[in-house]
Amino acid sequence: MPDRITEFIGKVTDSGTCTGCGLCAGLDNSGKSFMKDTPLGPRPSISSDHRIPDDIFHCCAGHRLDYPALYRAHYGKYPESWLTGTISGVYTGFCKDEQVRRNSSSGGVITAVLTTLLETGRIDSAIVVTQGIPEPEKASVVIVSTAEAIRAASQSVYIPVSTLDVLHKLDPEKKYAITCLPEQSAALRYLQHKGHPQALSIRYILGPYTGTAIYPAAITTFKTINGVKRHDRVSSLKWRAGEWPGYLEILTESGKVLRSPKVYYNFLIPFFVTNTSLQSMDFANEFADLAVGDAWSPEFESQGQGFSVVVSRNESMTAILSEMKHQGILSLEDAPAESAHSMHGHMIDFKKRGSYIRNRMRRMLLMKAPDFGYKPAVIGIKRVLVELVISAIFLFGRTRLFRLILYLLPERIIGPLFNSLRLRWKSISKKTKRQGLTSYEVIISEQ
Ligand SMILES: Cc1cc2nc3c(=O)[nH]c(=O)nc-3n(C[C@H](O)[C@H](O)[C@H](O)COP(=O)(O)OP(=O)(O)OC[C@H]3O[C@@H](n4cnc5c(N)ncnc54)[C@H](O)[C@@H]3O)c2cc1C
Repeated sequence: MPDRITEFIGKVTDSGTCTGCGLCAGLDNSGKSFMKDTPLGPRPSISSDHRIPDDIFHCCAGHRLDYPALYRAHYGKYPESWLTGTISGVYTGFCKDEQVRRNSSSGGVITAVLTTLLETGRIDSAIVVTQGIPEPEKASVVIVSTAEAIRAASQSVYIPVSTLDVLHKLDPEKKYAITCLPEQSAALRYLQHKGHPQALSIRYILGPYTGTAIYPAAITTFKTINGVKRHDRVSSLKWRAGEWPGYLEILTESGKVLRSPKVYYNFLIPFFVTNTSLQSMDFANEFADLAVGDAWSPEFESQGQGFSVVVSRNESMTAILSEMKHQGILSLEDAPAESAHSMHGHMIDFKKRGSYIRNRMRRMLLMKAPDFGYKPAVIGIKRVLVELVISAIFLFGRTRLFRLILYLLPERIIGPLFNSLRLRWKSISKKTKRQGLTSYEVIISEQ
């Protein structure tokens, strides 16, 4: 007979809202629960002897994370903007070390900050996510204690990776920094405010802006449509290889080299987008000390090389960035918050209004959806209609039948075709998606 916690986790997993973050396994003080690989990413395997505390009911992102309560507890108030969260400083910039910048996702800022935290003794180790462990197609969280290992973990990983299962391995006497996705940062803050010793040993949370991730099956499909035989295994995979914005690069044991520019391999998104991407309402990693995204703008894109939007959420992180700038490690230009955020208007809307509508539709269909404790104060009917189109694309795109399209059209056709359709759709829906966004307000639903 499963106990109520096992039953709860089972319900979250079965309902399809589990984000695979690994928090439940990481909270198990018995150390016997773990995350197992599935086609939908990591999923929990909970031991019958588990010692998971009741906290899990309040910080599982597949169930409920009370953002307003967390804002009050962590920042002492609600943010000025619910679109981007509490802000101490906003910049555009990059790491001045050419190699770090080139090997990273955008400007190498996360790698540079982690390295500085380590080298200045602010942390003993960094908890990072790296592609290629335990094998080239997979990705894992690792605890590293050298600058070299931090650099080796540069680049974004766009498949789901459980990160918080690392919690029970942390030494409360040590100091860590972690990189994690938005709801994972929020869950960690919840635990820190509850006095969880391992969560408190994490002194810095750094995280990417997070739009969409894709299921691992996307890699298999990408290989197959590019003519790679089933037995020809991947020997190396990078999501953002080469010059920014980079390309997906897959090398195989037989010597095949597949390369697809980021803007082209985005065609995999409608077919393999994760449920987590569709349900999350946090794009800008609102509870990370430092949140970093790509600086998408014609001005930066025309230069290549790599530029990031950098958001510090407290004075201590702002001081670290300023120190790094004066030491010549980072190039940082103050950016007006509005212009920095307008680079991401589309994705901010996708999360802040789109996810709310999608979660609401799930509930209307009697399906489980996570609750983040607030909802947009106003959503126009046009915005709902746009969401119906987007949701229909994801609904059909993820079916086997529609995935067959990928096998019929070569990547050199579907890549550019998808990109041009995406840009056209972006321009058609732009007015509706941006309408009312700058005056976005929320209604807080007490829990
Ligand atoms: C799933 C996902 C979706 C994203 N969507 C967007 C988007 O829509 N728009 C946008 O502007 N930016 C997005 N980003 C962020 C962007 O890709 C870069 O990560 C960000 O600009 C930081 O770049 P950087 O050069 O400073 O990072 P780097 O210096 O390359 O360092 C990257 C760090 O991120 C960590 N990391 C990588 N993947 C993960 C992961 N899955 N979970 C936890 N930690 C991880 C690594 O540990 C590494 O230390 C996304 C990132 C991810 C992982």
